Amino acid sequence: MRKEMMQELNPQQSEMSRRNFLKSAAAGAAALGIFGASSKAFASNAAHIVIVGGGIGGTAAAKYMRLLNADVKITVIEPNAQYIFCPGSNEVIPGWETLESLTVTHTTLKHRYGVNVVQDHATEINYTKKQVKTAKGEVINYDKLIVSPGPTLDYEAIDGYNKALAESEYPAAWHAGPQTLKLREQILAMKKGGTVIISSPKDPYRCPPAPYERASYITAMLKEHNPTGKLIILDAKDSFIFQNVYPYYWKTHFGYGTDNSLIEWVSKSNGGEVVKLDATNRTVVTADGTVHKGDVINIIPPEKAGQFAIKNGLNEGDWCPVDFRDFTSTKFKDVHVIGDSVDGDPMPKTGYIASNQAKVVVQAINEELHGRKIPYPFITNECVAMAGEDFGMTLAETFRYAGEGKRLEEHYDIPGAERDPARSVILEKVAKNWQRTFRKDIFS
Ligand SMILES: Cc1cc2nc3c(=O)[nH]c(=O)nc-3n(C[C@H](O)[C@H](O)[C@H](O)COP(=O)(O)OP(=O)(O)OC[C@H]3O[C@@H](n4cnc5c(N)ncnc54)[C@H](O)[C@@H]3O)c2cc1C
Repeated sequence: MRKEMMQELNPQQSEMSRRNFLKSAAAGAAALGIFGASSKAFASNAAHIVIVGGGIGGTAAAKYMRLLNADVKITVIEPNAQYIFCPGSNEVIPGWETLESLTVTHTTLKHRYGVNVVQDHATEINYTKKQVKTAKGEVINYDKLIVSPGPTLDYEAIDGYNKALAESEYPAAWHAGPQTLKLREQILAMKKGGTVIISSPKDPYRCPPAPYERASYITAMLKEHNPTGKLIILDAKDSFIFQNVYPYYWKTHFGYGTDNSLIEWVSKSNGGEVVKLDATNRTVVTADGTVHKGDVINIIPPEKAGQFAIKNGLNEGDWCPVDFRDFTSTKFKDVHVIGDSVDGDPMPKTGYIASNQAKVVVQAINEELHGRKIPYPFITNECVAMAGEDFGMTLAETFRYAGEGKRLEEHYDIPGAERDPARSVILEKVAKNWQRTFRKDIFS
């Protein structure tokens, strides 16, 4: 039953609806018998909340669902035994951070929060039967399905680029992991006076400041190890977040804007949009036909919703439309989509946002279970980014529900670095600390 209908019911009717919801949940789970021994810990009449994706959005949903409701059954379907956080992964490139310290598991989710974690790929949703199939052939019934599969990196959108090249000589490093280390190795091994190219994608993509953060760190590496080298950002956009801050840092540290600058930014209008990679000759071609030679080429591909969401028709175009009241899919009932896959503009695609969307969804589910009115969402984003080990920046945003069929209403403020340079020092500490505490918020 949809939430709007639940809200209109009187308390007696609501209680009956809740019982029906719980009854169908219990029947589904019992019919499947998929939970084995661990399921016996749950109340037999509990609803079953199934979550696809055990990254930031999915794990936050599972944990906070449990914190709100001790009785529901919760299952997370996630193929990987470990999750490597992207927040903080740019710092691996200059060697300020390690992949190990960014790596977490779902152990706490299983043992502290009693969540059933199925280590498998979800493949197919049967919306009529309310079931999810997995690659190994499991069929899992749900009462509510939360989908948070992250984005698809659309390598092929750049002519000549593909996943195999990203995994070998042309790391995208946009999922933290081996490609991040490969990029670091390539920069350290680059010939003296060589050029690093970063291709920054069109909007929207995960973590809007991250290409410029990465560019700043790599330029600092050049300054230290290869001062005749250069970094060029070729951009598929004409502007970027923190554009009132990064150039200030680049001017101060790298001579940005002078003939000897270690860093250059080429906007889309000035021919920055990369459309082709020539892997044999290590060149990229931009939309205006200019050929750029790069000794290290880091193409951050454009993105679209996760493959699982697209394959199951949750998308319209590149992204998945939702009702912002509770992130239910506008296409299928009892399915919520959160995280990078959502058509969430003006919300940026960040982990912090994904985790707060998760909280909106689990609260709505819990209120519906109890026959109560669901609250209007008010979502916050505290975006922290860095330019160097001595320089952080922050952006505070809020997103308020603006009515049915409308996008969330955004309010934000970005302090300018030049206005308060001393503040940038402490913001770097804040950024690092945020990363640590955020990992704990989601995974412990
Ligand atoms: C370099 C970089 C730096 C970043 N820094 C920050 C930052 O400082 N702050 C911030 O808030 N955000 C940051 N982000 C963004 C953040 O990582 C993402 O926005 C966030 O991870 C989105 O959460 P998600 O749940 O949508 O996707 P993810 O966290 O990517 O999780 C998706 C999960 O779904 C799983 N999955 C995919 N398909 C299936 C399937 N078929 N079946 C089952 N499971 C599946 C995947 O294995 C994965 O574990 C950064 C990103 C990058 C690239």
